[in-house]
Amino acid sequence: MNYPSNKTRLLFLKAVKLVWESAPGWATANIFISVLRSIFPLVLVYLIKQLVDGITGATGLGGEANLNLVIWYILAIVITIFLDEAATSLGNLVRNKQSYRLESHMHNLLHSKSIQLDLQHFENPEYYDSLARAAREAPYRPNTIVNNLISIARGLLSLLLMAGLLFYLHWVIVIILLAANIPGIWLRLHYAGVLYNFKREQTPAARKTAYFKWLLTGDRPSRELRLFGLGDYFANLFSKNFRELKEEEIGIIRKRTSIELITGIFKAAAFLLALWYIAKETVSSQISVGDMAMYLVAFRQGMVYIKDVFSSLAGLYEDNLFIGDTFEFLNLKEQIVAVPPVIEPGSLNKSINVSNLSFSYPGTGEPLLKNLNLEIRKGETIALVGANGAGKSTLVRLLCRLYDPAEGKITLDGKNITHMDPASYRKLFSVIFQDFMLYNLSAGDNIRMGDIFTPQNRERIKTSASQTGIDELIEALPKGYDTVIGRLFDDSRELSWGEWQKIAMARALYRDAPVLILDEPTSALDASTEYELFSRFKEITRDRTSILISHRFSNVSLADRILVLDKGIIAEEGTHDELMKAGGIYNEMYTKQSSGYKL
Ligand code: ADP
Repeated sequence: MNYPSNKTRLLFLKAVKLVWESAPGWATANIFISVLRSIFPLVLVYLIKQLVDGITGATGLGGEANLNLVIWYILAIVITIFLDEAATSLGNLVRNKQSYRLESHMHNLLHSKSIQLDLQHFENPEYYDSLARAAREAPYRPNTIVNNLISIARGLLSLLLMAGLLFYLHWVIVIILLAANIPGIWLRLHYAGVLYNFKREQTPAARKTAYFKWLLTGDRPSRELRLFGLGDYFANLFSKNFRELKEEEIGIIRKRTSIELITGIFKAAAFLLALWYIAKETVSSQISVGDMAMYLVAFRQGMVYIKDVFSSLAGLYEDNLFIGDTFEFLNLKEQIVAVPPVIEPGSLNKSINVSNLSFSYPGTGEPLLKNLNLEIRKGETIALVGANGAGKSTLVRLLCRLYDPAEGKITLDGKNITHMDPASYRKLFSVIFQDFMLYNLSAGDNIRMGDIFTPQNRERIKTSASQTGIDELIEALPKGYDTVIGRLFDDSRELSWGEWQKIAMARALYRDAPVLILDEPTSALDASTEYELFSRFKEITRDRTSILISHRFSNVSLADRILVLDKGIIAEEGTHDELMKAGGIYNEMYTKQSSGYKL
């Protein structure tokens, strides 16, 4: 796994492509309106000159015809101002529409990436940093890039026109215009980099702040938080982190502001020089009063455009840094893929074999599973037992190819599963995980989530629910299978943990997969419900190959074969009677558990 830091590359070009992909029509409209808007100011400057000259000429001659012309110029100025305003408003609408399209496109990209990524990414804090940075920037940054590019082009066009005009007056004025802005440009570029590095380094701290916020406001922590009285403690931690984060940022902005003030002095000096020269030329009648008005506006506008162009350039530089975070996330590579030559998994016809498998989680030392060998034959029920942390759940994840082993292989009917598309291969499995999901959806949908790809089948949903004994409860809900469960939304009904577990089990049963894996499926069930369920275990798992992980030996003894996982290998294997007779780990665990019940 590689989470590279950003190198300065022309990533903004890739971002422009994203904007174009997301809404070509709106992007074109945006460009068109922007170009239009760059022409209006020049027209306005010209009309003002004509107006002033018209007025000064009219008063001099006192002629009526000139007054008519003045009225026309006034009208033309008003219309131009109106059109400029209208284009600004329309531009806003177009930009909003385009932003929304882009945002949706970016969310889709981020989500599909996050769905595809290997589980290992989710165990790495750097993944969450990378995701947080991408999620912060992706929805709007490409648009900022395009807007900056447009405003650079627009500003340059306007600036060229204004500079051309001023060039007529004197070329030095153009130089003054450009030189006065250099310190400001340097400042923006410098602080864009400083702010970017700050934000990148602060991502873990920002995530920590968000975590404390969740502890204070989330549903899951709400009970412990109250019972243990942890509210103030976490509120303080939140405030402390938040303050540190913001104070550093404000410090940077404060420094930038004070330098900004100094750069203002350069601009004021430039104005002074230009004003003095224009006034001098007018007084000595080298230029008309209308020319004076035009040059003054042109100089002022020139200053504005040059500022716009360079702040857009600096913005683009900043965008280029930040958009790198989004591409960094989108470029993360999945490692669990079908290695050529790709083969179709088909179904389970004979057996799944694990040979010489070793595995350890990233960042941990000693392998958790070492040279492990195992055969799961079609149709049999296997129980997997072992101490906490022995690696039972990990073995299940490896069997489903949520992870790939570091060494050794897993074969399906003799074919190495690394050559199979992980998503197709996983269709062979239905699993109830220890940390199964609670979906705040209807009860029916909660079960249907086990097999979302086939059309909804109410009868099958009901059968699965009745197999786990949750059907009666669901039917008694206000809207039966359509009642939303959980407590996030209106009109929903919360269930007990044990009831959720039965729903999760019904979900696993609903999936028509040849292999059923149950990882502590009854941990939250009361003794009699558990007994009832297990007494029908064979019926429930009929026609399927099943693997049961349980700490309750009464359930385990149902299995055709029991495997004891210890110190990374299958240490014992056999039926309950065989293992009891062998007098090994299983015997010891069983004896301890049954003696524990004796009062
Ligand atoms: P079991 O199911 O037998 O109780 P697990 O397979 O859940 O054991 O875990 C085996 C060991 O691996 C434990 O020590 C646990 O801390 C560690 N472990 C489990 N999941 C992860 C993970 N995602 N990253 C790192 N270590 C893990």
